Amino acid sequence: MSTTEAKRTNNGAIEDLDVIVVGAGFAGLYLLDRLRSMGMEVQVFEAGDGLGGVWYWNCYPGARVDSPGPIYQYSRDDLWRKWQFSELYPSWQELRDYFRYVDEKLGLSRDIRFNRRVNEAQFDPAHNHWIVRSSDGSVASARYLVLCTGLSAKPYIPDLPGLGDFAGERHHTALWPQHGLDMVAKRVGVIGTGASGVQVAQEAAGVAAHLTVFQRTPNLALPMRQRKLDEDTIRRMKEKYPEMFDRRTKTFAGFDYDVLAKSALEVSDDERQATFERLWEIGGFAPWIGSFNDILLNEEANRAAYKFWRDKTRARINDPAVAEILAPTEPIHPFGVKRPSLEQNFYEIFNQPNVKLVDLRSTPIERVTSSGIKTAAREYELDILVLATGFDAVTGGLTSIDIRGTQGETLKEKWAKGVRAHLGMAVAGFPNLLFVYGPQSPNAFCNGPTCAEVQGDWVARLLDYLRQRNLTRVEATVSAEETWRAHVLAVADTTLFPRADSWYLGANIPGKRREMLIFAGGLPAYIAKCNENAERGYEGFAIS
Ligand SMILES: Cc1cc2nc3c(=O)[nH]c(=O)nc-3n(C[C@H](O)[C@H](O)[C@H](O)COP(=O)(O)OP(=O)(O)OC[C@H]3O[C@@H](n4cnc5c(N)ncnc54)[C@H](O)[C@@H]3O)c2cc1C
Repeated sequence: MSTTEAKRTNNGAIEDLDVIVVGAGFAGLYLLDRLRSMGMEVQVFEAGDGLGGVWYWNCYPGARVDSPGPIYQYSRDDLWRKWQFSELYPSWQELRDYFRYVDEKLGLSRDIRFNRRVNEAQFDPAHNHWIVRSSDGSVASARYLVLCTGLSAKPYIPDLPGLGDFAGERHHTALWPQHGLDMVAKRVGVIGTGASGVQVAQEAAGVAAHLTVFQRTPNLALPMRQRKLDEDTIRRMKEKYPEMFDRRTKTFAGFDYDVLAKSALEVSDDERQATFERLWEIGGFAPWIGSFNDILLNEEANRAAYKFWRDKTRARINDPAVAEILAPTEPIHPFGVKRPSLEQNFYEIFNQPNVKLVDLRSTPIERVTSSGIKTAAREYELDILVLATGFDAVTGGLTSIDIRGTQGETLKEKWAKGVRAHLGMAVAGFPNLLFVYGPQSPNAFCNGPTCAEVQGDWVARLLDYLRQRNLTRVEATVSAEETWRAHVLAVADTTLFPRADSWYLGANIPGKRREMLIFAGGLPAYIAKCNENAERGYEGFAIS
């Protein structure tokens, strides 16, 4: 593979590259730098007008990360030494600053084509390369196509009757106007109480004339314990960064803490309660993925965690009827099997006179009108309608590209019969196509930058292996992807995750096949499988 300038063929319309990476978030940028430093000719194609992936699109009020900032960054010491977040859980604005900083340091933008949405990709078996067509009319080819499109590239907008009739401002949180939107003194409605719904509701409650939150399923949200990071704190934290980054590949979810080596059922009631209290005070995801090792596996252990969460939460809500909707006496689904959000004052906002909670289970939306929302009970007048309705997550971004492999079938058609992706990174019938943070990898159960580096390194190592041997084609075998699929589903069946209709299972999208889309065996087990695979000469891949 050459490192010369991009080649031009025929009329100059086709750029022929070693690798096309799609997506300029953590994963795509990591791979750009990694592969470029291996001497490969790489370009990143990005649909957005800027860097940062989800942090480019999700610029709604209150958008911020639920991973602590120190761990939500690249682990390279030449990057972290000169960078600091000002808050423990940085906002989208600060994350964008971070990406600008990384760009300045690594000179990434020169190899990124912004405003270029990849629409089609076709494998050409005669030349073992991909032909890629994009929204700007460009056509490019590359030996390898690496999709770093993330898990939330396809916002989900429910098919609500009359949605188009609404005369006010209406935006999905992930398609928020880049120039912002003023909610001051407005009547704001938020549909959905997932992570984005919680965050935008907290902001709106502080400035809007009136906020109406439409909830279908309670979010079992956990206290964020946000705080400013002063110079001294940062200096002390940085002393531990090398240890922290080392540890994040050794824990279940790519953080610097892990599940406890204890069952909730093997300890006394007092010890269980004291542990729950301790984790609650730490905040963040500690009460979820830093808790007893059977919370997500055993119904009784889970029930104890739910009860603790419920009682803590209800104590913050004045009206018992509102408390019952937000934190029901009986759980609607087990604790933690839908992604808990981190909140700052989410429950207190419902004590404010300008905030109203609408329970869509008892009073569903009948239609959107020109002036608001009509439920089975009444109509709510709105100036701004916020659709915090989530994503066709994990697979939606990939299947919305018309990707055709060697069997004439698109990825979407293939996965309609069930997702198959060997190690969560490669698919039979789609040679030289790899993806990062994709289905059947730890994706949503793994801190984003951790996964970007782990999977990015594996991809880079594979491409180097091929280059060293003058090989030009790599493809997962059918039997390998079947085995991996069976493993992913079997692991899921040992957990309580299948017990909720979550996006982890695609169950939030009408008509989408309901199956676990994430490897729930933990990052260390995943890394071990990937390493073992590489060390055995890429078992389960046909290479030529
Ligand atoms: C609001 C929100 C909050 C989150 N908070 C956390 C958190 O606290 N902790 C955590 O670990 N993870 C979080 N995540 C998950 C997040 O996806 C990862 O942290 C991380 O951003 C993944 O990086 P990525 O590079 O894989 O994908 P992304 O950041 O999603 O980037 C993918 C990029 O691909 C581009 N793209 C997609 N399709 C195409 C196409 N066809 N053509 C061209 N470009 C395309 C997109 O425009 C996007 O820029 C959050 C996600 C969201 C939406």
